[in-house]
Amino acid sequence: MDFATKAIHVGQEADPATGATIVPIYQTSTYTQRAPGEHLGFDYSRTINPTRLALERCLASLENARFGLCFASGMAATAAALDLLSAGDHAVVTDDLYGGTFRLFDKVLRRDGLSFTYVDVSDPSSVAGALTDKTRMVWLETPTNPLMKLADIKAIAAICGPRGVLLAVDNTFATPFLQNPLDLGADIVVHSTTKYIGGHSDTVGGFTAANREDLHTAMKFHQNAVGAVPGPLDCFLTLRGVKTLAVRMREHERNAQAVAEFLAARTDVEQVYYPGLASHPQLELAKRQMRGFGGMLSFVPKGGVQRSRAIATKTKVFSLAESLGGVESLICHPVSMTHGSIPKEERDAHGLSDALLRLSVGIESERDLIADLTQALA
Ligand SMILES: *Cc1c(COP(=O)(O)O)cnc(C)c1O
Repeated sequence: MDFATKAIHVGQEADPATGATIVPIYQTSTYTQRAPGEHLGFDYSRTINPTRLALERCLASLENARFGLCFASGMAATAAALDLLSAGDHAVVTDDLYGGTFRLFDKVLRRDGLSFTYVDVSDPSSVAGALTDKTRMVWLETPTNPLMKLADIKAIAAICGPRGVLLAVDNTFATPFLQNPLDLGADIVVHSTTKYIGGHSDTVGGFTAANREDLHTAMKFHQNAVGAVPGPLDCFLTLRGVKTLAVRMREHERNAQAVAEFLAARTDVEQVYYPGLASHPQLELAKRQMRGFGGMLSFVPKGGVQRSRAIATKTKVFSLAESLGGVESLICHPVSMTHGSIPKEERDAHGLSDALLRLSVGIESERDLIADLTQALA
């Protein structure tokens, strides 16, 4: 079955009890048993819920995974994957990392005895160089946020595999429509379904996928033991959202490519970061590893941080907001919003300009988006 068909049908057979075509919101915490211990496979909704199960099956199929698990947020999914590690273990992590993930690693898990080394994963040899005999996981985001750097999943999997190091990929930016890390050799995929998978900025959720049964069993144990599960209504909304992921991603990408080319052609813009531009240093890797370039881009306008703040304030179709991946376009000034907690010296060292603006390009009309940026840049 192809992607668009799986998104609409897998896990979503007509309801056996009523024939309902759409998976119902099973708003129940418990299930009546015929005799003690004799039930229909459902006993308590932290452990298992039919609406969540439908979403888990559907999302697993989109990642070509044998197993999938849903969580209350992307961070809860990330915590479940990191719980595969124990005190004393070490992980190698992309240095251009989602801020909430950095906070979890640095402020919570480090206290629990894990250690982390942050490297530029766009160079696989820097990953190899950071491995120690304590390393049990490599954690990638690709493309990264907000500099849109890529990591070569296949090359890094070839480094991790022989050493028994788990490779986990946060696939939130690319989405399963554009990139399937398990097919490229990763062991674990993590998503914030809050973003493109849900797609409508109306619910928070997370997801993990794996092919190895031992990894799935351990993360499922964590899901039930810790209990950071999504409610049935959130699962329903995410399942409704994911049905249109294929059509949305095509529109996101078409608009993002147009906006990237528009910005790159302007003399008052210093730099544009988008994997689909000829100027992106990893265009070839993007073409090899992804089926498209996605809806996220960043750019540095000339005129310094004051002008960037003015542009972010003046857009009307692009809302000034954190988050990404919804049908509506968003603009964000990472240094004053999502990335403010990173010290200036570190930002400079990573090439993150104080003037950088990030766009989550939505699926409004291309003409309106470009007109909005034109007036804001003026
Ligand atoms: C938003 C996001 C997360 C965290 O997800 P939540 O659903 O907000 O908990 C993790 N990784 C990336 C890349 C994200 O964009």
